[in-house]
Amino acid sequence: MMTLHNLGYPRIGDKRELKFALETYWKGEQSEAELAAVAKDIRRRNWQTQLDAGVDLLPANDFAYYDQFLNMSTLLGVIPKRFRQEHYDLEVAFRMARGRAPSDDAAACCAGHAGHEHSEQTSKADYAGAMKKWFDTNYHYIVPELEDDTAFALTDTRLFDEVAEAVEVAGLAKNVKPVLVGPITYLYLAENKGTAIPKLSRLPELLAVYSEILQRLADQGIEWVQIDEPILVLELADEWQQAFQQAYDALSQSSKQPSSQAPLKLLLATYFETLGDNLSLACDLPVAGLHYDGLRGAKQLNDVVAQYPADKVLSIGLVDGRNIWKTDVTDAIAQLQDAKAKFGDNLWVAPSCSLLHVPVNLEVEEKLNSELKNYLAFAKQKLAEIKLLADALNGQVGEKALAANAQAIADKQQSKLIHNADVQARIAKLDQVALDRAAPYAERAAVQKPKFDLPLFPTTTIGSFPQTQAIRQTRLKFKKGEMSEAQYIDAMQAEIRDVCERQERIGIDVFVHGEPERNDMVEYFGEQLDGFAFTQFGWVQSYGSRCVKPPIIFGDVSRPKPMTVFWSQYAQSQTDKTMKGMLTGAVTVLQWSFVRNDQTREATCNQIALALRDEVLDLETAGIHMIQIDEAALREGLPLKKSDWVAYLRWAVNSFRMTTSGVQNDTQIHTHMCYSEFNDIIEAVAKMDADVITIETSKSQMKLLDAFVDFQYPNEIGPGVYDIHSPNIPTVEQMVDLIQKAAENIPAERLWVNPDCGLKTRGWQETEPALTNMVEAAKVLRKQFEAQMKSA
Ligand code: GLN
Ligand code: ZN
Repeated sequence: MMTLHNLGYPRIGDKRELKFALETYWKGEQSEAELAAVAKDIRRRNWQTQLDAGVDLLPANDFAYYDQFLNMSTLLGVIPKRFRQEHYDLEVAFRMARGRAPSDDAAACCAGHAGHEHSEQTSKADYAGAMKKWFDTNYHYIVPELEDDTAFALTDTRLFDEVAEAVEVAGLAKNVKPVLVGPITYLYLAENKGTAIPKLSRLPELLAVYSEILQRLADQGIEWVQIDEPILVLELADEWQQAFQQAYDALSQSSKQPSSQAPLKLLLATYFETLGDNLSLACDLPVAGLHYDGLRGAKQLNDVVAQYPADKVLSIGLVDGRNIWKTDVTDAIAQLQDAKAKFGDNLWVAPSCSLLHVPVNLEVEEKLNSELKNYLAFAKQKLAEIKLLADALNGQVGEKALAANAQAIADKQQSKLIHNADVQARIAKLDQVALDRAAPYAERAAVQKPKFDLPLFPTTTIGSFPQTQAIRQTRLKFKKGEMSEAQYIDAMQAEIRDVCERQERIGIDVFVHGEPERNDMVEYFGEQLDGFAFTQFGWVQSYGSRCVKPPIIFGDVSRPKPMTVFWSQYAQSQTDKTMKGMLTGAVTVLQWSFVRNDQTREATCNQIALALRDEVLDLETAGIHMIQIDEAALREGLPLKKSDWVAYLRWAVNSFRMTTSGVQNDTQIHTHMCYSEFNDIIEAVAKMDADVITIETSKSQMKLLDAFVDFQYPNEIGPGVYDIHSPNIPTVEQMVDLIQKAAENIPAERLWVNPDCGLKTRGWQETEPALTNMVEAAKVLRKQFEAQMKSA
């Protein structure tokens, strides 16, 4: 019989129970024991769900209060100096993740009351660990910090308790498969902090702790351990490839040492891409089995099947752990025939990766279109697909289920909901859309300068203004039908008038309308475009207690009517200053959604771009002649393998050009990107040919502008002069200093002055003074530069 296993299950709960429990606990309104009870209940239910679905090997240690990578750090004793204490407890993990734990807040509060019995207690709060994206997912892990005195040692022993819990649910230890991040991926993603010790020199010491962990798991009766080494899908330097050999040779030796139990078997798991040049390495490592992502790694699936030794276990994932579509089970069965012939029962089936990256349960959705619902599968439904697949391969064909699956797949191919002939016809003529603007930047600038008549160092903001409680409430009331459309429009227009007055008072040069009508920069557009659907509970963990609910792009995208013209036009009517129109770019919409899998991402991106192109032209016709298109996620869309970057950047950049190329020369196109790492994409960014780009650079003190300087970026730039993520109010001097730094390298005529991102998460009490100082800083600089120009 073939084994059916799972690599990980979402831990947030059907309705985000973990999020709410965590946040209550962090606020100090619930004890650690109460939080632990919620967590335990989620784990138990998850295992039961998987057991009921017929999963043979239950994943354990896939639960985390905050992050499973952080779990590895506390397990291995990698605790930053600033948070070390005599005895490890859960609060340490929360401090590593968030900078503080509930008792720190209690201590801070007590310190204010003299004579309180805890008043001598000092807070252990300090800055949190850095957070990074887990490969190309929207999940974030806490980056381990390796310091001069980091000493690996088995520290947080929750792993073993959770394994014991799983064994209790499963009944047998051999049906539980603990999941660990492998030593090489752990070291690779860890960062040195204030130390020059080469990371790989720590490997032997690290392996000693892994051996100890594996020994303890063997003592618990565990047979299989899944060891995740997803960096095997990256293009690795030789030393890291050698480290794999060294590490797994050592681990296989130690697992052979005499012990009371049978030796533990390691299932090496990779996912998210092909193995590329690491194929032979991965196939030859001395472990008992390999899990391979047959979807994202499709190009190499045949090679893996051919090359992997037949006497070992090969697990293949053809059920998508990264997307929400039903699997074509008949096709998957066909794809697995060769592997089945070669491996027999040593072929295992699983999702492509952990199911952490998909929503939990489709059943709880009450409002989704029922036809669409029939094309979808969330985590729980994916378990049933794997079961169906395993049964079919085991010769126990579930005829009815298989037929229903095939019917859904066939219906989807024909569906009118999904396929729109008008969109297809337009896409067929895509090559008729010119990607270049009518004239190059220099010529455009020559007509834009007199038209907009802006001072040197023009000031502007990135689009959103504080989303006050009142604004959120108004939107909610309208959504719930507790407010008429006319009342809603009145309220929003009042907000727009308010921000116009404020910008007038502060003295900003280019205005924005403040985006009060937008909940989220992608959802707002998705809700107005055809081809998008929204779930009620389709949450996916992003980091800690934060979850996102990505829209589903299920069909051909089109724009039934203008989306932003009404608001922008109203805003423009309230001021003589130029009002910037504000759109979210196609790549960002794509990146933050679940995307259909029956055509390329490029094709879907082009459809969104065409819809946005119409919006841009409608804005222009309506008298909005400065239009910003945010591409906050352009960089995070970069493929995992550098060799794939060129192709991605070509279509990503073209989608932006397609969106913007139709406007007149004297219409000014802006773009905004919330990051500062441009070194390796600057050429592509320049090809977008926006007249103005605003970026984040304040945190690096303008150092990261170097990419623009070295490349001699030809158009205008607004390097963010203050960090909107901080509540601190920047001083005039600080900002003058930053702009001066920028002006050392970029001609003053091409510099804009703006914050580094939208202001929606800030309050007015910090926004007004910050912007007032920003405008003052621009004035100081204008004086300096005008004087310089006169004397020159
Ligand atoms: N225009 C958006 C805003 O100001 C941009 C947000 C973003 O870049 N993340 O909120
Ligand atoms: Zn931003």
